Amino acid sequence: MSFQRDARIVARELARYYRESRAGVKPVIDQRPLHSLVGELRLAELAAQGGLTGRRLRRFTRDYLERTTRLHHPAYLAHQVAVPHPSGSLGSLVDGFTNNAMAIYEMGPAAAAIEFFVINWLLEKVDWQPAPYPGAAGAGAGGHGGGVLTHGGSLANLTALIAARSRLAPEVWEKGNPADLAILAPEASHYSVARAAGILGLGHRALYKLPTDERGVVQPDRLPGVWDRLAGDGRRAVALVANACSTALGLYDPLEEIAEFCAAHGLWFHVDGAHGAGALLSGELRHLLRGVRRADSLVWDLHKLARAPTVCAAVLVREAGTLDRAFQQEASYLFHEKEQPGFDFIHRTVECTKAGLGLRFFAVLAALGERGLAAYVEGVFRATREAYEHIAVQPEFECAAPPQSNILCFRLKAEDERQMALRARILAEGSFYLSTASHGGKRWLRLVFMNPDTGLAEVKRLLARLRAG
Ligand SMILES: *Cc1c(COP(=O)(O)O)cnc(C)c1O
Repeated sequence: MSFQRDARIVARELARYYRESRAGVKPVIDQRPLHSLVGELRLAELAAQGGLTGRRLRRFTRDYLERTTRLHHPAYLAHQVAVPHPSGSLGSLVDGFTNNAMAIYEMGPAAAAIEFFVINWLLEKVDWQPAPYPGAAGAGAGGHGGGVLTHGGSLANLTALIAARSRLAPEVWEKGNPADLAILAPEASHYSVARAAGILGLGHRALYKLPTDERGVVQPDRLPGVWDRLAGDGRRAVALVANACSTALGLYDPLEEIAEFCAAHGLWFHVDGAHGAGALLSGELRHLLRGVRRADSLVWDLHKLARAPTVCAAVLVREAGTLDRAFQQEASYLFHEKEQPGFDFIHRTVECTKAGLGLRFFAVLAALGERGLAAYVEGVFRATREAYEHIAVQPEFECAAPPQSNILCFRLKAEDERQMALRARILAEGSFYLSTASHGGKRWLRLVFMNPDTGLAEVKRLLARLRAG
């Protein structure tokens, strides 16, 4: 059967790719010009002729893999995208093959059951009440949490803010936005929060910046000042957003103190844990999110610190009803009262057709087990701390702040252009892949320790390379 033969061809090529990438024998990054890749991959020829099978498939797969950015390479230190666990990648394959677009139960019972289970598993990590399984005894009782998996953290943040707005101003679905809505967020919040404010039709002027220290971490004792400003402007806050952790520096806002403030003002508290909620998996690290259980909503990307292939993001809410009331559209062919044995996630999402995202994470969880996944998070946090301790004492380098997660910003004690030029040179030679961030008026080199194979040896080689200029 040609499917089996082709699958074996692809699997063999991937296995070799995985081996070579981990061994670091190929460049971690190799960005050739797009127009030449279109030619090298013979895209036009293949599109015209068809027949991507057998030897042609082998050659194409090889050509493709040679031109990828290798996340499995130990010198991959650039972005927060997971180095996918191979079991998760197989989960993506099964999902892609079955194509069970599971937003309505009848389109993917197994996928929906996994999503329900994954959401409950995550709710328990937050210390929120998991939802009873539909059809099981006790189902229908209120007072439990809920959630949905979305195609990415940006969409997840938007979804949570939609739920927050629907609680404060449910009439928007009929009448449009009242003019007095605002969102409170620190400057260091991910751009998707500002983008969500735009998409919600509030405008960037509706964003009120929370007071922070020089690291960009929220200072809870200064929150009353923002509240006064908001009241002075005659505005109502849809939500207060905090980082757990921030994207650029990887630092956690003090959630417990912020929760206290939100509770006192009846304010929806949204925690953007797209990156850093993974710390909840570890008994050693979960203190970083102390207070998260008092939030109203939490975003948690499993394609970041949980080794799932892109994308798999969770929106979690403490009270399931707030998400169930977030959207108010009806489509008679999809949404109708029906006797059914399952659960439709479609009421909770922007998406209509939705991939069975749960499987790509669940396959990782089931391969590593809870303890294995926790050990992974602890390992990359520890590697980051060790890198910091090593770099902080080198006279030619400085760090932006002691790390709290697996993100570390540092720089040569030199002007910004020098950092940027060195990064460009290193990426061009393909020896390391790192990112940059600006903070406190300076440009920093940014390392994100995602790969469990990355350790101090890579960091020492990187510093040597940076010194060489
Ligand atoms: C990555 C990130 C996002 C965006 O998530 P995507 O999955 O990339 O859309 C939002 N917030 C924070 C804090 C992030 O780190």
